[in-house]
Amino acid sequence: MLGHASLDELTLRFGKDLFARLEGDRPTVFTPRWLDDRMMEWSMDDESIKIQLFRLIDVLPAILNSTTSITRHLKEYLELAQHRLPLPMRWGLRWLPEKGLLADWVARAARFNATRLARRFIAGSNVQEALSAIAAMRKHNQTFTIDLLGEAVLTEVEALHYQAQYLELVEGLTRTVNAWPDNDACERDHLGLMPKVNISVKLSSLFSQFDPIDPHGTARAVKDRLRPILQLIRQHQAFVNIDMEQFSYKDVTLQIFEDIFMEEEFRDWPHVGIAIQAYLRSCGDDLARLLAWARKRGTPIWVRLVKGAYWDYETTIAAQNGWVPPVFLHKWESDVNYEQQTRFLIENYTWLRPAIGSHNIRSIAHAMALAEEYRLPPRCLEFQLLYGMADPIKTALVKMGQRVRVYTPYGQLLPGMAYLVRRLLENTANQSFLRASFIEHISEDELLMNPAHHATSTSHASADSPNGHVGKDHAGHETASRSKPLPAFANEPLADFSQESNRKRMQAALDQVKAQLGLAYPLLIQGEEIATPAWIESINPSHKNQLIGKAAQARVADAERAIQAAVEAFPAWRDTPVVDRANCLKRAAQIMRERRFELSAWMVYECAKPWREADADVCEAIDFCEYYAHEMIRLSHHHRDVPGEENEYFYEPRGVCSVIAPWNFPLAIPCGMVVASLVAGNPTILKPAEQSPVIAAHLVRILHQAGVPKSVVQFLPGIGEEVGPTLVKHPEVAIIVFTGSRHVGLLINQQASATPQGQNFVKKVITEMGGKNAIIVDDDADLDEAVHGVVASAFGYQGQKCSACSRAIVLEHNYETFKTRLIEMTRSLQIGPAEDPTYAVGPVIDEEARQRILGYIEKGKQECHLALAGDASAWAHEGFYVAPHVFTEVSPQATIAQEEIFGPVLAVIKAKDLSEALAIANGTPYALTGGLFSRSPANIARVRREFRVGNLYINRKITGALVDRQPFGGFKLSGIGSKAGGPDYLLQFLTPRVITENTMRHGFAPSTSGEPS
Ligand SMILES: Cc1cc2nc3c(=O)[nH]c(=O)nc-3n(C[C@H](O)[C@H](O)[C@H](O)COP(=O)(O)OP(=O)(O)OC[C@H]3O[C@@H](n4cnc5c(N)ncnc54)[C@H](O)[C@@H]3O)c2cc1C
Repeated sequence: MLGHASLDELTLRFGKDLFARLEGDRPTVFTPRWLDDRMMEWSMDDESIKIQLFRLIDVLPAILNSTTSITRHLKEYLELAQHRLPLPMRWGLRWLPEKGLLADWVARAARFNATRLARRFIAGSNVQEALSAIAAMRKHNQTFTIDLLGEAVLTEVEALHYQAQYLELVEGLTRTVNAWPDNDACERDHLGLMPKVNISVKLSSLFSQFDPIDPHGTARAVKDRLRPILQLIRQHQAFVNIDMEQFSYKDVTLQIFEDIFMEEEFRDWPHVGIAIQAYLRSCGDDLARLLAWARKRGTPIWVRLVKGAYWDYETTIAAQNGWVPPVFLHKWESDVNYEQQTRFLIENYTWLRPAIGSHNIRSIAHAMALAEEYRLPPRCLEFQLLYGMADPIKTALVKMGQRVRVYTPYGQLLPGMAYLVRRLLENTANQSFLRASFIEHISEDELLMNPAHHATSTSHASADSPNGHVGKDHAGHETASRSKPLPAFANEPLADFSQESNRKRMQAALDQVKAQLGLAYPLLIQGEEIATPAWIESINPSHKNQLIGKAAQARVADAERAIQAAVEAFPAWRDTPVVDRANCLKRAAQIMRERRFELSAWMVYECAKPWREADADVCEAIDFCEYYAHEMIRLSHHHRDVPGEENEYFYEPRGVCSVIAPWNFPLAIPCGMVVASLVAGNPTILKPAEQSPVIAAHLVRILHQAGVPKSVVQFLPGIGEEVGPTLVKHPEVAIIVFTGSRHVGLLINQQASATPQGQNFVKKVITEMGGKNAIIVDDDADLDEAVHGVVASAFGYQGQKCSACSRAIVLEHNYETFKTRLIEMTRSLQIGPAEDPTYAVGPVIDEEARQRILGYIEKGKQECHLALAGDASAWAHEGFYVAPHVFTEVSPQATIAQEEIFGPVLAVIKAKDLSEALAIANGTPYALTGGLFSRSPANIARVRREFRVGNLYINRKITGALVDRQPFGGFKLSGIGSKAGGPDYLLQFLTPRVITENTMRHGFAPSTSGEPS
């Protein structure tokens, strides 16, 4: 058949044949489907309408039972896009009532249309409905793979439920379908009849703590849940395919796949497959790995080759984290890779049996052509398409004698929303083949062109289009990042622990640091190491018998000596050029970068920071160095000259600075406070917290190594009550920077306000004093996101962050569901030592903190309902563990709803409406962080105005502020001063001065450009 035709010619021939068979088989007007298509077209024409429309669709399932809520959301969303709407719609919107007959009618229509749209891509809400859809397909000689919708599994209860549903599905489906008569067109390949039932499974749904940072623990748990499903599938002669999800899950998914199908009972089972994504740069390596593994296994597997469904997600996450995107950035690259990997599969088809999962006629035709070129047996290739998409292509393929399998999801709309949104995005994406062919009617020749030809194309527009043809760019991501100038400051990218290389580096650092535990860290005054009679022992909170190190315990005389040394060092440091000071910070950043895993390891041991939190701490420290270096240079010059007059506005440092630091961000916070002071020109003394002197000693040594003179930054560990007053009250201390408790912060402020004899300036005090942070959960919130966000904010680092959430204020409508899921998700968190990434929750910092938190728990039991007391008893003797506790029906005035606890204790408060929620949220003496989960544009706007906190987060967790992106700090009793990591912070360490010089002499003056005028 191939004859002398080249592969491209043959591809073209198959492609043309397919196109010819589509003729006349396109969506027709006046069917509900046609209406959907018009809606899609409409949203494709205008990005802002698309966003509002998809957001509306996203919220509808959560509010389906409330007419008022539906009409309110309709108005709110469409009003945002109203200038783009047709005039009659704008009028309609204006007069649409929220209640009454008309509102009922509109709500019913919205409900009907949303459900119908979903039903276009989702085959039914239960097995029966899915079965009817499958039976209908079978009449058209198309077979199926079935998928049970549901992805965001937050709790073990949900994961177990999902497993149970799968078991039921297998039983129910095979009972019916296996009894159906054989259909050769559907099931017969070159080797004989294939299983009639084919099931697709997403592994992340089987385990609520699915996390690639702990691949072994994740794999163990998932395999335990998967095994019974596989046994049943095999027992019923069915087929199983493992779906592929986001990139961070890929390696662990492959590992689980390989492990489990190598097990004795499954090793000789040929009816298994996995989806592999060609938009990933790693795709070729993954297929090579699978081939080697399949050979070793001795039984072939199937590979469903897809391009991938998470492109927007992957590129967004990469941009947010500063990571290299794992996906190709040009559409044609994904297409070229798809063709290369199709060839690889076809070359190795006896081991990796190819299933071509695409709606792209060029990709499909290319696979057919290759099958010809390699003379594959007829019907050896399988073509897979999605339910509700490209139906004419399915029909055409069947007519051409190909085997066609339709990926058929079923389930409830709410858990199906993520799937539905992916389909809507896919159908409306600028670069979608379907859009190009069915909507934009690009010519067949263009659509069938070899994508590799775009590798040499110089036109960006054409290179970024479906098969490279439509001159529109994609979603703004890549083009936007190209056209924007590079920012002067970029956050240090967090380590991606889904990558094995990073996990290995972290483990190696933990081993290396472990060998250095127990050393002594003397004071560093004027560069001299000073031992003291008493020492502070720094203990590992995870293992209280493990000594991390001993730090000297400064006495008042030591503090005075350090202050005197700083006074002497001041003039030279003040007069050091700003650039040189800034360069010291940049060098310090570089040293930290090189030692990032080691520094993280110190924090894991010294403060029980989990891996990700420790890594984020190092990154923040690096960011502070880079950012303040950059900021000081920005501030250093300001001229406003006129002819004959030079005006210079500039800053000078204030003088000696005492930094009194906390332990909860043991590197980042001290580093930020110290380097801000240093770069501004102030000699600085660091008194670290008693619980974290070792990591602070490393910080000071790094600063010395980076070139900061030894008298300019000094290390003074000690007991707060002993040396604190000297560091605050000494008449030579000009600035006090403090982060810690409200009590101490206010005391410092009071002490610093005195102006003793001989002190000829007013001290500057900068304090950060905590919060009682709340998250409001609106009645239309996405509960998957809200529960996840509240749990992460409340229990991340055991609730020991100033930004942590300690109050969840939930609107009545969602209260019960939210509460149940929150409790179950919290119960699902695993508790244990911080060095082991299996555990999401570690110990609190020390015994004193543990006792204080337990005291609050006792108080909570008296005042409110204890809904969950986590269990940390397994580790009770090992360290300072307090398991997460959740209190419900909490009164806004209860002690645990008013006082900062700084531990894993969460108060859940019910509010009848948003006004009440806001009153409760604002009803404490603090104003640090706050959050809102809502999908109502009007409520979001109101909360932005009325929730008065320093850092407000909407629809995300409330911890994890990044330097420059989210400068951090509060007001009221949360602190005095400007936000750390923000453009005003350095000003607090500086005094502005102005110098004016008259440059005119007897009527002549230099011009402002320097030339004589
Ligand atoms: C049966 C079946 C099962 C599936 N199972 C999975 C699965 O398990 N996991 C999964 O992730 N997906 C899965 N998919 C979804 C699939 O990934 C998408 O439907 C598919 O990518 C669409 O590709 P296409 O060839 O049909 O369309 P085309 O329009 O030719 O290609 C779209 C692809 O190009 C990518 N793309 C768009 N813009 C760019 C750009 N600028 N740079 C690089 N690439 C770009 C898109 O992300 C998308 O992957 C499955 C699809 C089918 C048919």
